Amino acid sequence: MEWYWWVLIIFWTGGFGWLADNIRTALRNRHTRRLELLEAGRQERLAVEAANKPPEPVCGCTHHLAKHDKQGKCHERVELPTAWDEQKKPVRFESGQCNCQQYVGPQPLSQVYAEDLTDLA
Ligand SMILES: [Zn+2]
Ligand SMILES: [Zn+2]
Repeated sequence: MEWYWWVLIIFWTGGFGWLADNIRTALRNRHTRRLELLEAGRQERLAVEAANKPPEPVCGCTHHLAKHDKQGKCHERVELPTAWDEQKKPVRFESGQCNCQQYVGPQPLSQVYAEDLTDLA
């Protein structure tokens, strides 16, 4: 066999190996991109679902509106600090009542829940 056959064989095998590697990588990349696309679509769907969902009736005190009585007084139990250290950091807590007076003035709902909506976006 002539010497250049060996060169050709090495080139072919090496070259084909390299080509196969590239194809494999390309396929893998496409697979990853597809997964990314699927994930992006899922996120989008979740965002749309969340946007269509009626906002949770949560008061500014973070407690559900159901926890408030007709006067707007919140009845949820909260931890109230009773002792502070030198850095004014509360060190002891005592169970107490949330002192929220749920504002019931003429405030449009969109403003009340604006924080929630921007969080979702
Ligand atoms: Zn409240
Ligand atoms: Zn409350």
